Amino acid sequence: MLPLPVLEEAASEMTNYRGCGMSVMEMSHRSEVYQNIFREAKADLKRLLKIPDTHEVVFMQGGAILQFSAVPLNLIGRTGKADYAVTGNFSSIAMKEAKKYGEISVACSSEDKNHTYIPAQDDIHVSSGASYFHYCSNNTVYGTEWKYVPDTGDIPLVCDMSSNIMSSPVDVSKYGVIYAGVQKNLAPAGMAVVIVDKALVGAEHPLTPELMKYRVMIDNDSMLNTPPCYTIYMLGLVLKWLEKQGGPEGIARIKVEKAKILYDVLDDSKMFKGNASVPARSDMNITFRTANDELDGVFVREASHAGFENLKGHRAVGGMRASIYNAMPTEGVEKLAAFMRSFEARFHD
Ligand code: PMP
Repeated sequence: MLPLPVLEEAASEMTNYRGCGMSVMEMSHRSEVYQNIFREAKADLKRLLKIPDTHEVVFMQGGAILQFSAVPLNLIGRTGKADYAVTGNFSSIAMKEAKKYGEISVACSSEDKNHTYIPAQDDIHVSSGASYFHYCSNNTVYGTEWKYVPDTGDIPLVCDMSSNIMSSPVDVSKYGVIYAGVQKNLAPAGMAVVIVDKALVGAEHPLTPELMKYRVMIDNDSMLNTPPCYTIYMLGLVLKWLEKQGGPEGIARIKVEKAKILYDVLDDSKMFKGNASVPARSDMNITFRTANDELDGVFVREASHAGFENLKGHRAVGGMRASIYNAMPTEGVEKLAAFMRSFEARFHD
């Protein structure tokens, strides 16, 4: 979801942006009016996430998946080695991609229990001389979330925050690179936000495309080519909305309340079972199932008839998944909880 007030504001200025006579979609990215939109969005992002001067924000096309290649291409050249935490679908794809570019070690994995948990700090084994340690802070498909920032000593942390960015405060100074496809919590699809420690850039693989070099994108303020102008404009509107919710601090309080509403249903239920182990439960993606696939199917169908969309779980996990990103109102979550309770009352024998 995108916040309704944001969609309404975008609709109201769709054909004529604040009296300038054209739509944001029609503007030159070099025009003064667009440069202001761009600068403000970037400044708001920096302010809301308290990004220190050591780090720079770049907007890159290709979504989070392109970052699976950009991260090793930019960083692995320092030592030729990198460590990956494998805790779900996307971190495993990221690791496979990185293997093209260097020697990759699995520092920890939750594969033994079908990614239902997050490894503890003691279970993380970093290799000496790794250029970076990569992990995914929220596993969108499995519904698990890291509740701590891994301690990897001198090895820079690289984190895929695609599905939980801006849902709680982050100490950016602890990270070498943070990246996130924007389409869950920040904007419509079309790019990734990448936050880079400037001290790490400049050792990229010589074959790295110019558009994927962090150094070049920083030097050109994300405008080496025409950026996804409308997506960045929408990002700006969403950031203003996020600020009104109290920024990451405010959202953190709201998201815990929202997730609790659904986890309370699961905990009280004799029919629904959560997929994730309790300490690792995600506040963004609530994964659950009934006792059998057939009943799961009935649930998804009936939910859709009642107006609840996209509840079918990813094929790797099955069951159901309620994605309650930042823009999902508490009211929507309460309605789903009520629907789940009434479904159980009707179908549980
Ligand atoms: N990482 C995570 C954690 C995701 O949730 C997703 C999208 N579901 C991706 C990567 C892939 O993102 P994109 O489609 O922007 O490439």
